[in-house]
Amino acid sequence: PIRVRYAPSPTGHLHIGNARTALFNYLFARHNNGTMVLRIEDTDTKRNIADGEKSQIENLHWLGIDWDEGPDKGGDFGPYRQSERKDIYMKYINQLLEEGKAYESYKTEEELQADREAQQANHEMPHYVYEYEGLTEAQKQAKIAEAKAKGLTPVIRFHIPQDQAYEWNDIVKGDISIDGNTIGGDFVILKRDGMPTYNFAVVVDDHLMQITHVLRGDDHIANTPKQMAIYDALGWEKPVFGHMTLIINGATGKKLSKRDENVLQFIEQYRELGYLPNAMFNFITLLGWSPKGEDEIFTKKEFIKLFDEHRLSKSPARFDQKKLEWVNNKYIKETQPSELTALALENLIEAGRFAKDPDAQTIEWARQMISLYIPQMSYTQQVVDLSSIFFDERTALTEDEMKELADDNALPVIKLLKERLTNLELFTAYFINQEVYQIRLATGVKGRKLFMPVRIAATFHMHGPQLAETMELMGRDKVMANIDRVLA
Ligand code: GLU
Repeated sequence: PIRVRYAPSPTGHLHIGNARTALFNYLFARHNNGTMVLRIEDTDTKRNIADGEKSQIENLHWLGIDWDEGPDKGGDFGPYRQSERKDIYMKYINQLLEEGKAYESYKTEEELQADREAQQANHEMPHYVYEYEGLTEAQKQAKIAEAKAKGLTPVIRFHIPQDQAYEWNDIVKGDISIDGNTIGGDFVILKRDGMPTYNFAVVVDDHLMQITHVLRGDDHIANTPKQMAIYDALGWEKPVFGHMTLIINGATGKKLSKRDENVLQFIEQYRELGYLPNAMFNFITLLGWSPKGEDEIFTKKEFIKLFDEHRLSKSPARFDQKKLEWVNNKYIKETQPSELTALALENLIEAGRFAKDPDAQTIEWARQMISLYIPQMSYTQQVVDLSSIFFDERTALTEDEMKELADDNALPVIKLLKERLTNLELFTAYFINQEVYQIRLATGVKGRKLFMPVRIAATFHMHGPQLAETMELMGRDKVMANIDRVLA
């Protein structure tokens, strides 16, 4: 049975790139009736942030990703937080020490730095220089005893075999071969603080959790040979590896980096702007993966059915903000107005358009107002700007608006509008439309020459959504005040 995992480090919020890794693992698991594991890789205690795990879990759930085993769910292979698995790692560290495949290393940071500088001067790749080179076992033990006497704490390094090639058939990239001599020498598997390094913990966990496929970003390719060496040393069978191509900023063609300020990269940020989870799921799934054919809009169920890991793209995925907006707009049009209202209301309250905890009447008004913008909305936060005609208190018309009103027909139309609206009993879009029609019959003015003066006079703006609906929502008092201002 297929078992995959998503293994975030709780060092930040859920990034688009990580969300994509989670999502492909999820689709792969669900497509194959396999098991999805969530494992928290929190051994880098200095980089962990408070609530990092909680935020990851919350945002994954928001996206519609779930898992079968994890710190919040339990399972037969726990604990699922690396910080709670120290005893397990120690067992295998000790095994490697006993078998002579790992050793205590006392090189200080200064000594390592000196090595690096010498290597740089010789134009060599940086690598660890074995500190017991040429020593007899007795001399080695003497050196260790001396370091211990000084009160130094060792790290544990793994003996990387000489002249070994690491080869695997990568799900995404095909055959890969990496020369073990490029790894950089014996690497640390246990840090001074007693925590295992990522490369060691990940192997122990993937093995013990019976992970069959490791699907992750290709920034980990250089780690894979180190991990393979550890599998070999412990005599364990390796999982299948797949390394997904990186995501590039579609606008600049550069790798999407967390520091790129031109793109929002955290799921939370999209959430706050009122993007819809299903739209994000849809969009992210198409970052570096595509089904056969031209269609781009799919439900989660369809994606699960269609998912094929062999269609993961070998070339970088382009992150295209405009496309994301297009996808979200498609989903917005399919979403219940009440659901959109709830989202947009949050944005409107945040922006100070409404007070907190609006009453039922306000909510109903907002629902109608928000509905006017659904066709053009890419995300609900846009309603804040789009709807400014309902909230701003402009004192003067723009030059363009004045120009529209300079037409000979404008004044008679507006005067008649005032008269007819004053006498209108029910100030609703239906009856307002009737009145505008009557104005057309009475004056013979039609099309833009009719609607522009009406729009400008009634709303004090030349742009806006459907006119009669807008007027109804503005309400009689405001509309009449606007008309008076224009006539004054
Ligand atoms: N904790 C690692 C990361 O966040 C996981 C890498 C892996 O999947 O092996 O990059």
